[in-house]
Amino acid sequence: MIDFKIWKLFENDPKMFEVPVKCKKCGRCCIGTEMELIPHDIERILKLGYRIEDFVIVKRGIVRLKCVDNRCVFLDPETKLCRIYEHRPIGCRLYPLQYSDGEIYVDPDCPAADTVPAEALEKFLPIVEAFVKLSMITREWLLLKFGKLPEER
Ligand code: SF4
Ligand code: SF4
Repeated sequence: MIDFKIWKLFENDPKMFEVPVKCKKCGRCCIGTEMELIPHDIERILKLGYRIEDFVIVKRGIVRLKCVDNRCVFLDPETKLCRIYEHRPIGCRLYPLQYSDGEIYVDPDCPAADTVPAEALEKFLPIVEAFVKLSMITREWLLLKFGKLPEER
């Protein structure tokens, strides 16, 4: 059962989840992505006219962004820009912050990793933890809401 406070948190303007990073727009984080999705992301992207099977897969039991030719389905391979930038998932906004075993850190693979201010880690920790919790129930939410799941690997 998901905490109602967590659900409400992500009803806020997605802009508030953007980590301060001087992004070099290299597109690296959109290659081979396995970005987790939360229900709010899916609803926002569905409103743009996409179908669930266009951008969602279930991998290792978690609902994620779909890749085509090893890049996010929304990445324009020529410009290296996101086609849905204004509507992109919360996980993409939280990047390059990463979370593992209760620890938050900046992904060293991001060429702009050193531009994330140290204080952002403390500030974003509760948000990243809430995001991880919610992303774990997206599969169940999809099943309840649509009665079926997209491709599962
Ligand atoms: S890897 Fe880092 S610098 Fe490159 S697009 Fe992603 S956030 Fe920006
Ligand atoms: S949704 Fe946009 S920002 Fe997120 S991985 Fe895909 S192309 Fe990159």
